[in-house]
Amino acid sequence: MSTIALGMPQTRRDPREAPPVDGRPAVPELVDRFGRIARDLRISVTSACSLRCTYCMPEEGLPVPPREQLLQPDEIGRLVGIAVRELGVREVRFTGGEPLMRHDLADIIAASRAAAPAIDVSITTNGIGLDHRLPALLAAGLDRVNVSLDTVDREHFRLLTRRDRLDAVLAGIRAARDAGLTPLKLNAVMMRETLADAPALLRWALDNGAQLRFIEQMPLDADHSWARDHMVPAAELLVVLGAAFELTEVGRDDPSTPAEEWLVDGGPATVGIIASVTRTFCDACDRTRITAEGTVRSCLFGDDETDLRGLLRGGATDAELADRWRAAMWNKQSGHGISLPGFEAPARTMGAIGG
Ligand code: SAM
Ligand code: SF4
Repeated sequence: MSTIALGMPQTRRDPREAPPVDGRPAVPELVDRFGRIARDLRISVTSACSLRCTYCMPEEGLPVPPREQLLQPDEIGRLVGIAVRELGVREVRFTGGEPLMRHDLADIIAASRAAAPAIDVSITTNGIGLDHRLPALLAAGLDRVNVSLDTVDREHFRLLTRRDRLDAVLAGIRAARDAGLTPLKLNAVMMRETLADAPALLRWALDNGAQLRFIEQMPLDADHSWARDHMVPAAELLVVLGAAFELTEVGRDDPSTPAEEWLVDGGPATVGIIASVTRTFCDACDRTRITAEGTVRSCLFGDDETDLRGLLRGGATDAELADRWRAAMWNKQSGHGISLPGFEAPARTMGAIGG
């Protein structure tokens, strides 16, 4: 079996080794060699998922590591506390795989909330089962959700996700809206198969009080079917949306926000586009990631990972964990170079890293 099928990292160095810190200034934050500071933490909690989106998962799904290899709620809470208290992280988002596949997601959120009471805690989810789980997640301290929805055409949804679950996703989105979780954001990956559905999706989002953001498809699918000449660039989507709506460019309100915004029909509603491939934003990247198995990943596209789980379980102090995390981020690469010749996709795929 290949390493990709296992969703395992092909690391350039042993994740258990401390990364080099030559030249690193003695500052508490997660600074890197290029002067960026990571303040936005993404934590993957599983590689399991209830859908099989073709741009992400293989048909058979990704293997799920045994429970003892996954970070447990108290361990996640401890890392969140360290990130916020010692490293200057300001926002935490749980992702996957599908975070709702973790039956202890409310415990994970509660542990994080207890460790960092003032922080913004959110999840990125496909929405399936959200309507049933929301009361417990809210009670645990969840602030916001981003739901992924690529089309409101049922047959296109079934083909793209390999599951006939559109109604369940829409029920999850409506539950989040009814619970007053605002801003309610929807993410849609721009796929050629659903490009013609984009205006109807935007109309649905506007009618349901959600902020829609389209994302360019990145080469992070398990099937390795991504192709530059097949992906839908932001410019092409703008033409399709522009035929149905009047769009006025407003740009980015925060340079580290990847989405560029357009007013729809004069506003106040907006639509966002994250042009991760054609207009990369690596220079302003402020992300740090923890995988479900407890490694720091400084970039979606960089295979270097640094293990924190072994330190956590080996009795390391908070200060030691913080130092290892700082060292990992100091070595973050300058950019992913998707647009450069010779670009190689990372060994782990989106569902195994956490999007
Ligand atoms: N299962 C959850 C969901 O779908 O929202 C969370 C995990 S998913 C990997 C996180 C985000 O990554 C989703 O918005 C998804 O659409 C996006 N994503 C997955 N594969 C992608 C790809 N190849 N290119 C761009 N975005 C992708
Ligand atoms: Fe699952 Fe999310 Fe990947 Fe779709 S994008 S397969 S919902 S992890």
